[in-house]
Amino acid sequence: MSQTLQIEKANQLKEKPDVSTVSFGTVFTDYMFTNKYSPEHGWQEPSIIPYQNLELSPSCQAIHYGQSVFEGLKAYKQGDEVLLFRPDENFKRMNQSLARLSMPEINEENALNALYELLKLERNWVPDGEGQSLYVRPFVFADEPFLGVRPSRTYQFNIILSPVSSYYGAQLSPTSIYVEDDFVRSVRGGVGFAKVSGNYAASLLAQKKANELGYEQVLWLDGVNQKYVEEVGSMNIFFVRDGELVTPELNGSILPGITRKSIIELAEYKGYTVKEEEIHIDELANDLNSGRITEVFGAGTAVVVSPVGILNIHGTDYIVNDNQPGEIAQEFYDHLTDIQYGRKEDPFGWMVRL
Ligand SMILES: *Cc1c(COP(=O)(O)O)cnc(C)c1O
Repeated sequence: MSQTLQIEKANQLKEKPDVSTVSFGTVFTDYMFTNKYSPEHGWQEPSIIPYQNLELSPSCQAIHYGQSVFEGLKAYKQGDEVLLFRPDENFKRMNQSLARLSMPEINEENALNALYELLKLERNWVPDGEGQSLYVRPFVFADEPFLGVRPSRTYQFNIILSPVSSYYGAQLSPTSIYVEDDFVRSVRGGVGFAKVSGNYAASLLAQKKANELGYEQVLWLDGVNQKYVEEVGSMNIFFVRDGELVTPELNGSILPGITRKSIIELAEYKGYTVKEEEIHIDELANDLNSGRITEVFGAGTAVVVSPVGILNIHGTDYIVNDNQPGEIAQEFYDHLTDIQYGRKEDPFGWMVRL
């Protein structure tokens, strides 16, 4: 059953920036989607309103106990059309995150329709420069003013939009990664598989440590044995080993990335062998040493594909592919972005056109 979406018009529209000079996540469009949940009425008030500050009680539950989940996806411009990459997957995953935090699930179809309406209204905000897109950030948080520890009774579901430029300039550039063997991101049975805000809060200290040691990002090991490769900051990780793609299996503590899933599906379509398995960090070091592993790359919405040039394992730097972007990473970056921008055929039915 589809709900009526109220639209409140803005009195004045903002001036659109030169997106090539905008840093990630700093500029927002004229409108946002908002919906409110109460136990009596469910998600009852879907509306599109001018982008604005939220009014919250200082005892708002999300601030104190962290019932807060989010999603991230991108809208692309091709001619006059706005293209979205697998948005249904984002709302499906959002419901898995919500369920884990005892938060009320959303109606995925209503959420998709609301996003489509919002994007139609904000069509002119989708930038069309090389590598540019409109970043879409849906999020749900608990807003009941109450300090007791139990699930909040009330919630807000909002979607905001932010124009972003490509993570890269003209070319892919390799990143450097520090394998963290002190701090852990998550454990099985915890919330590692869910896109919850607190996972990021917990990761910041290790990120700072990696930066101070001269590396750009952190590769997490499993939280129990601290031996098995899990993922990077906000990306899943792939290795090219003996010409095959290898990535850690989804074990409950790894975030199930939509880019990860898409690379696996695209690789199989292209005839690659893909293996999802446990990857021991010492075996990884051996395979980098022996040359069995020829490429390492991260995969996530923000970067799409990010080649790894340096991997620090237990204090030793391993240089991957002469610290140059690998051929296979480039192939998947090109193929995925070509599908996302509508430049290449989409045999999977991934794209939604508005
Ligand atoms: C969002 C996220 C990813 C990547 O997921 P995509 O759906 O591909 O963007 C990977 N790891 C973590 C921890 C994330 O939060």
